[in-house]
Amino acid sequence: MKKNKFIAAVLLLFAVSACFGFVSAPTVKWVDFNASEWALRECLRYEQKFYGGDSGYDFSDAVAYLALKNGNRFSVSKDKKTLSGLVKRLESGEKMNDIFPESDYADYLRTCYRAVLGNMVGDYTDGEGGEVKHGLRCCFPLAAGHWYNHYDDFGNSRSFGYKRKHLGHDIMGSVGTPIVAVEGGTVTECGWNKYGGWRIGIRSDDTLRYYYYAHLRKDRPFAAGMEVGKRVNSGDVIGYLGVTGYSNKENVNLKSCSPHLHFGLQLIFSPEQEKGPKEIWVDLYALTRFLSSYRVTTAKDESGEHHVTSRRIWA
Ligand SMILES: [Zn+2]
Repeated sequence: MKKNKFIAAVLLLFAVSACFGFVSAPTVKWVDFNASEWALRECLRYEQKFYGGDSGYDFSDAVAYLALKNGNRFSVSKDKKTLSGLVKRLESGEKMNDIFPESDYADYLRTCYRAVLGNMVGDYTDGEGGEVKHGLRCCFPLAAGHWYNHYDDFGNSRSFGYKRKHLGHDIMGSVGTPIVAVEGGTVTECGWNKYGGWRIGIRSDDTLRYYYYAHLRKDRPFAAGMEVGKRVNSGDVIGYLGVTGYSNKENVNLKSCSPHLHFGLQLIFSPEQEKGPKEIWVDLYALTRFLSSYRVTTAKDESGEHHVTSRRIWA
């Protein structure tokens, strides 16, 4: 009898959890953002082609569609065929929502790629007022006219304090190069961190993305007025490239390291993913290459402060 009750209880528990699993949206626990630079550029090109029509084409959904058709891998030869097939169906009058397959995995990929790319492309104007355009409106983190160099270093091992993986993207450059906010949002961290040195953290307005800019310049790391709680726009100068960090003592330069920006992007779907072992960080190499086609220009004033002189304003 006891045994039967136990089996019944287990079955009920299983049924209830299965039921909740079925009715609730899948919780995203990790995101492998694998989109290639080619896929990002081509999907943007078609976003501009279909913009204003009724196909329902969406930049991030198109990237997710390519991912879905190739097991979340990207290859130019396969993606070319998949994308041209999608475009043909849309041109023949089918709608993106009807074409996108329905499955948990399809929903998961769509959620992941939307979380990273959902705001990257949209309406903007060149400066204040003027004609509304549509396209890439998030920018490269280093202002135009300053050299940089980078390679895919996501997941490489690091060993200060304890062994861990490199959950960001390093962009080599010169000390003092203006660093601009890739996307707007609210400054949630601004100060010294024993790993990142002088660093700034910015949370996007929809709270899904946390941008992390680290190893900023010794002595004068931040743009004037930068502080926790400040609202910044995409393209605002937030600080200056440097080489600080990996020290419990403040304002110390890294030894045996050349100046670089550590650029990180964390996705936050639920509060327990904000800090700790559940953090989700994205490989930014291809995305950074994609963003390099749009860099804001800045000019230096007498006090050495850089100010943005041209940028796309979100419409
Ligand atoms: Zn780094």
